[in-house]
Amino acid sequence: SGEYEFIVVANRLPVDAAEDGEWRRSPGGLVTAVHPIVRQHKGAWVGWTGAPGEVPEPFGFDGMFLRPVGLSDDEVDRYYEGQSNATIWPLFHDAVEQPVHQREWREAYHTVNRRFADATAEFAAPDATVWVHDYQLMLVPAMLRERRPDLRIGYFLHIPFPPVELFMQLPGRADLLRGLLGADLVGFQRPLAAQNFLQLTRLLLGLDPKEDRVEVDGRTVTAGAFPISIDVAEIEAEAADTEVQAQARRLRQELGDRRVLLGVDRLDYTKGIEQRLAAYGELLAEGSLSNDDVVLVQVATPSRLRVTQYQQLRERVEREVGRINGEFGEVGKAPVHYLFQSRSRAELVAMYLAADVMVVSPLRDGMNLVAKEYVAARIDERGTLVLSEFTGAAAELGEAFLVNPHDVEDAKRGICAALDASPDQQATRMRAMRATVRAHTVDRWAREFLDALSATG
Ligand code: UDP
Repeated sequence: SGEYEFIVVANRLPVDAAEDGEWRRSPGGLVTAVHPIVRQHKGAWVGWTGAPGEVPEPFGFDGMFLRPVGLSDDEVDRYYEGQSNATIWPLFHDAVEQPVHQREWREAYHTVNRRFADATAEFAAPDATVWVHDYQLMLVPAMLRERRPDLRIGYFLHIPFPPVELFMQLPGRADLLRGLLGADLVGFQRPLAAQNFLQLTRLLLGLDPKEDRVEVDGRTVTAGAFPISIDVAEIEAEAADTEVQAQARRLRQELGDRRVLLGVDRLDYTKGIEQRLAAYGELLAEGSLSNDDVVLVQVATPSRLRVTQYQQLRERVEREVGRINGEFGEVGKAPVHYLFQSRSRAELVAMYLAADVMVVSPLRDGMNLVAKEYVAARIDERGTLVLSEFTGAAAELGEAFLVNPHDVEDAKRGICAALDASPDQQATRMRAMRATVRAHTVDRWAREFLDALSATG
């Protein structure tokens, strides 16, 4: 056994290779939240560098020990883009896109999960705590327990866990379930997900779950909900920055001082971007909205570009943006500003501040951090949020204008109601949502998970 008392295992390491050859800490809430905990325990992080090719030796970074796991080009295709992002991802998001099943992908997923588990087993001190993250590594808890029964193992799933009938479609379903059962604590975004998981242990493995736990091989596995959040202080500091505020004002001017609808998503079929465009296009067509008065800014961050479904989605979205701009625009004044680009956190906060209505319309989303960031950024207590019922965030942000994005009429109603809200109504709703978000920060999420983990067994 090794020497690290606390180890995080995730598909990606918390660093990106910069152009100068140095490592930079990656942006994102998970890294922000977990980094201080890893550092405090002089812990380790096991993960992929994100680039194929030569695997760097383990190295120290900002108080953490980083252990790179190598993936071959084939493994990136099969484990990452295949089994993780073309099988599990769509199936766990209500199969809104058809999941693809391939035997070689499952085999690569198994091989790579084994590699992560082996690397972790070597570095963990006796009785260490290990926290495994997300859908790319569902087999790791059991593989790790097999080698290291002394460890305390937590697992957190960042994406939705599907309804029982959908999970049942998955080839290798019992193996995945047994993989998760290697953990002492299995965390989900929502209580219903934990219940689905426990029910499946009865249906597929003949176990006898009771309340929030199930006995397996003489151990107790606990399942529970731990809704993730954001670094509220960081977003608030950006929003209070005078340069960011000036940028927000410039944006509004450049958009012709029209009322601004905003969408910020990875270009992913779960995000409901097409449904949002359909609702907006219909509102323009029927004259409920006019290009003189409103504009939609849609940031669509490039994502998983080598997966066919994502290439097809991009074509459909760009065709629809072109159609709407062609039909309802004028020279120098387009109804949709579409950015197929990644934007920095500061730029996003400026956009959040420039928006009148933020439209978050996923068909299914484990949480949706963009919705929470928008709320955290509105220190001015202005602006409204249109939010899909099918996001984890909707369970906490009941003062948003909640919509069913599958129902175009309902989405249109939500957008119009959000645009019509008076400054007083905006402030009342925003204040309530801000109180919720400020009370549940991402470091509290991490602490609650780890407290529950240390209370197990
Ligand atoms: N994000 C970003 N730049 C972009 C688009 C998104 O930094 O161009 C960030 C955004 O601020 C948020 C995260 O990426 O923190 C997206 O998280 P979310 O839960 O909304 O969706 P996911 O992409 O994880 O499905």
